[in-house]
Amino acid sequence: MSVQPIRLFGDPVLTTPAEKVSTFDKELRVLVKDLTETMLDAPGAGLAAPQIGVSLRVFTYDVDDVIGHLVNPVIGVKSDEEQDGDEGCLSFPGLAFPTKRKQRVVASGFTMHGDPITIEGSALLARCIQHEVDHLDGVLFIDRLDPEQRKAAMRAIREAEWSGLSPSSVKVSPHATGGLAV
Ligand SMILES: [Zn+2]
Repeated sequence: MSVQPIRLFGDPVLTTPAEKVSTFDKELRVLVKDLTETMLDAPGAGLAAPQIGVSLRVFTYDVDDVIGHLVNPVIGVKSDEEQDGDEGCLSFPGLAFPTKRKQRVVASGFTMHGDPITIEGSALLARCIQHEVDHLDGVLFIDRLDPEQRKAAMRAIREAEWSGLSPSSVKVSPHATGGLAV
């Protein structure tokens, strides 16, 4: 296992809320490694497990030269201050749209070894955390756009060359072949 194919918009795994990780085992460590390698290969600022077809609450990030991951994240807002700026997603290749996000967030969760960890982020890291935690809830960045931008996004998606190419299986483990959870 290493670099994995990234699931594209239209794949049901991307709109399925992911399950909490309950076992901090070798399989989870392999998942974090796969996510990290796939994110760096893409390259992207973050990657959530559903994007490689694994419906578990895990994401990785690579922001300002810091590479990390978070398991079972719970997000909190540090202030009402917002940021605006173009946001894209590896599951929507080549597309980006202005997306409002909170400027500062804090996320608590666990490392792949089961140790509690809290990340605080502003600007790009805050945007990344919100985007990835949304993925774990089955929410996509196009769901966060204002109505006019969303219309433009849906049009661009229909016209994108990858549109309609997504496969459609949902796994709850990186190695299981059965156990579909659609
Ligand atoms: Zn994304």
